[in-house]
Amino acid sequence: MIPASFKPKRQFMELAIAEARRAGDRGDYPIGAVITRLEGRREVVIANAGNRVKTSGSSIKHVELETLKYVSSGYGRYLPDFVLYTTHEPCAMCAGACVWSKIGAVVYGVSQEDIAAYGRKHATEYYRWRACLIPCQYVLEKGDHHVPVIGGFLRDKCHQLFSYRSPSREPSPRQPARVSSRPKVASRPKGRPRPRTR
Ligand SMILES: [Zn+2]
Repeated sequence: MIPASFKPKRQFMELAIAEARRAGDRGDYPIGAVITRLEGRREVVIANAGNRVKTSGSSIKHVELETLKYVSSGYGRYLPDFVLYTTHEPCAMCAGACVWSKIGAVVYGVSQEDIAAYGRKHATEYYRWRACLIPCQYVLEKGDHHVPVIGGFLRDKCHQLFSYRSPSREPSPRQPARVSSRPKVASRPKGRPRPRTR
């Protein structure tokens, strides 16, 4: 269990932001996530990754969901001692995964409302800035999963990701755009992945 007095740490959100930039560098949406584990007084990184919706070709491969699945595969069905840090508020799908996995706490930067507000100003014919305006907190409460949810953490830095444009994505005859690489994982989960059920 994560205590109600839990205080998120900047370094972990900054790592999520770095992952978001790397995702942007390979042509994905610049969204990043980190999952930490509380071990006594220590909080350690278990997994960190960037969004792969575009490069995977799957619109539901949200980084929060994929990272939760990865950690669950090694640490078990339930993750009460783990904290999900994500640059963007989990959508209803990912918030649902937080309920089912019994994650210990959720920390996010920009909200789904922030995404929608930005989209109202900057949407184009090709990029509509879709958002899912069901608060993460609401989904967790409706799932009877009452854990700390801290929103707006390093919000300004996360908000800058909306306009992030990778230098490596600029057309250059001498430096072609980078292709995707494997997600970075700080330490591999112990044990073998097992089939998962609710
Ligand atoms: Zn999601």
